[in-house]
Amino acid sequence: MRKILPVLLMAALLMGCSASEPCAHQTVFCMDTVMDLQIWGQERQQAMDAIVEMLQVLESTWSATDENTFLSALNRGEGTPDKAQQDFLDQALALQERTGGAFDPKLGSVIALWGFYDDAYRVPTAQEITEAKTAPKWDLGALVKGYAGSRAVEILEQFDIDRAILNLGGNIQTYGEKENGTPWNIGVQNPTGGDALGALAIHGTMAVVTSGDYQRYFELDGVRYHHILDPKTGMSADSGLSSVTVICADGAVADALSTALFVMGLEEAIALWRQSDDFEAVFLLQDGTIYATEGASLSGCEYEVIRHEN
Ligand code: ADP
Ligand code: MG
Repeated sequence: MRKILPVLLMAALLMGCSASEPCAHQTVFCMDTVMDLQIWGQERQQAMDAIVEMLQVLESTWSATDENTFLSALNRGEGTPDKAQQDFLDQALALQERTGGAFDPKLGSVIALWGFYDDAYRVPTAQEITEAKTAPKWDLGALVKGYAGSRAVEILEQFDIDRAILNLGGNIQTYGEKENGTPWNIGVQNPTGGDALGALAIHGTMAVVTSGDYQRYFELDGVRYHHILDPKTGMSADSGLSSVTVICADGAVADALSTALFVMGLEEAIALWRQSDDFEAVFLLQDGTIYATEGASLSGCEYEVIRHEN
């Protein structure tokens, strides 16, 4: 069996700290992934410290693998959420509803069966999955990094900050405009390695979140089992997609949608996009074809444009 640890899914291109314009730059390991944070502006260090603390608090509250977290207590039937925690849980349930259940914040007992919590990977039987579903447990792994991006924006707004780019392990959160109004240039990672698939031009404060079948998986008898499960079957989602990138002003929504659209597959995902007005998306199919919705400014690769009208 083989496993690849979550990697940085996107490369933030051409935007490093420079001598002419000082920035705070910090790399932290949090939420089981490497996070790379860059902040420009007068109060960059204060904002950095507050964001790192917020990330640590979110991890120690919402990790499903650490038995000392609030989430684990909740899953044991202990603990009462405070207002902010209840709002987050309610947001998760609303996103489950919006995605017709493709994003399911209570898949924890099924995810545990697969060994994704303790790296003891195995393929559960259909009966085990059915039984696990009768005892649902919260797992907000598909949401919490995006939520962290939104919380980081709230923190940045409280300080004298010009701009920031936060790579929260595959979740990119931009903040503010770059100098001269040039867009942030966000690379979409190529799952097979090498150069980025293409680049997204992002203006202002935005979340860019990718979910893919190559981020965390194991292989058994030549079959790849990855960490995004189809809630209907409890098995790794196999919708013909290899990755989905969502661009959205709200980080939590971007994160939940990237997971949900991956589960849904291209056709259903397009239908959801057509009835929404708060996100754009880039789809990479397993055969290598790329599709992008018409509002996504993707360049550097060939792709089909998905339009609102046929
Ligand atoms: P990553 O966290 O690797 O960036 P995602 O945001 O897509 O990727 O979240 C995947 C994680 O969410 C899994 O590791 C698991 O904990 C959980 N998960 C898996 N399938 C689903 C699903 N259909 N709905 C909600 N959460 C899921
Ligand atoms: Mg997600």
